[in-house]
Amino acid sequence: MNKILISACLAGFNVRYNGSAKTLLHSTLAQWHAEGRLVICCPELAAGFSTPRPPAEITAGPNGGLLMRHGAKVIESTGADVTNLYILGAHLALRIAQHYHCRYALLADGSPSCGSETVYSGKFDGQTVAGRGVTAQLLREHGIRVFSHRQVNQLIVSLRQDQAPTR
Ligand code: SF4
Repeated sequence: MNKILISACLAGFNVRYNGSAKTLLHSTLAQWHAEGRLVICCPELAAGFSTPRPPAEITAGPNGGLLMRHGAKVIESTGADVTNLYILGAHLALRIAQHYHCRYALLADGSPSCGSETVYSGKFDGQTVAGRGVTAQLLREHGIRVFSHRQVNQLIVSLRQDQAPTR
């Protein structure tokens, strides 16, 4: 049975930078939880951040892949460079996903870690742009199919197709 890595904030844990959750209520998620298929992970807490913490955004290229290869950074609103901790969190999330053989991930969009469709602009102006967080990018680079919280129905369809018996 496929297991799914899920952002801890989507699973109802108050782990976001501002101490809140981003609970995603969905009957299928509740069913997966009851079946023990959800692997709950917060890359930022795994890397050692606490809650609450300053908001952070990816600067100089809103793409986690570019971040690691081309010198973009993750900067907190305080100005602190937290790039290395975000990269650490991504690798820890990958290790957890691989340990539990997760081929799918359902992540909270917009986050510099978990964003898979959009991230914030890097200017702390409240604007989002197309891009990926550091964790979402690393998971994808290792063959894990990442869906944002807005794509839960697409994830359900993909899992059904994956589990359908082949003729
Ligand atoms: Fe949620 Fe991911 Fe941010 Fe943790 S790092 S609070 S799981 S979006």
